[in-house]
Amino acid sequence: MMKPMSFDDLKGKVCVITGGAGVLGSAMVRSMASVGMKIAIADINKEVADKVAAEISGETGAQVVGIAANVLDKASLEQAKKEINQKLGDIEILVNGAGGNSPQATTKVEQMQESDLDNLADTFYGLQMEGFDKVFALNFKGTVLPTMVFTQDMLKNKKGVVLNISSMNSYKPLTKIPAYSAAKSSVNNFTEWLSVHLAKVGIRVNAIAPGFFITHQNRFLVMDEKTGNFSPRGQKIVDNTPMGKFGEPEDLQGATLFLLSDISNFITGIVIPVDGGYSAYGGV
Ligand code: NAD
Repeated sequence: MMKPMSFDDLKGKVCVITGGAGVLGSAMVRSMASVGMKIAIADINKEVADKVAAEISGETGAQVVGIAANVLDKASLEQAKKEINQKLGDIEILVNGAGGNSPQATTKVEQMQESDLDNLADTFYGLQMEGFDKVFALNFKGTVLPTMVFTQDMLKNKKGVVLNISSMNSYKPLTKIPAYSAAKSSVNNFTEWLSVHLAKVGIRVNAIAPGFFITHQNRFLVMDEKTGNFSPRGQKIVDNTPMGKFGEPEDLQGATLFLLSDISNFITGIVIPVDGGYSAYGGV
């Protein structure tokens, strides 16, 4: 007989979320805590991770701990895994939430005009490779390396779930941010690759692609700091989002819990957009 559908299976499950102290990450922690999961917020900023953990634990009664971890450093991840195992037990779920863009890999102009030929600094030609390296490291390597370390218990138990955080720009690159767009595309590609590689050992691998949420990392692109109004780019985003607004971080909770739960036991290798219809809209 079919069991009634719920997220009950998630209760008590141990999850580690990288970048979980951030804006979207902490909203995901909140949704996971609301169904009684045990959560380790593995973040390079331990102070904020501890603060977010205490806050969410206080609100929900769930066991949430902050753990220091750098997603680009294997030794740091291995140390974090040890601490998580001691504090919470075997890791059953991994959310790869650390990621982001860099101003060093962001062009000032959207499209080159003939007038830019005399001043290439604001175009693609003015970008710094250091910026590309940073963005690719954080988003791609920063997904691969924690997956290698934090899925070890899942291999042992032949059961587990990995959830990667991609972005809208993985489908169609956004102007100005070539490195971030390509890096998030690589996250989608890796999600598919790993889902196939691990399908027979009980580990599911999926991703969500958030649309547009105002956060620390993109505020400088979508808001006018002086007036507090949308920048032309921010307005363009709203105009191209059929729901006519930016998302709220808690809008990620449905897709998150759905993909983590055993309810989705036959789902692996997919990327779900959470975008107010942005990816469905042709702009006319
Ligand atoms: P955020 O900057 O608020 O959070 C990122 C977190 O990652 C921070 O807590 C930071 O301390 C941590 N972090 C950074 N480098 C790290 C490292 N080396 N090791 C461990 N932790 C590290 O970012 P956010 O906007 O909440 O984004 C979360 C994820 O969602 C990212 O992958 C981002 O690319 C993606 N995303 C964001 C948006 C958006 O609109 N904000 C849209 C699509 C996708």
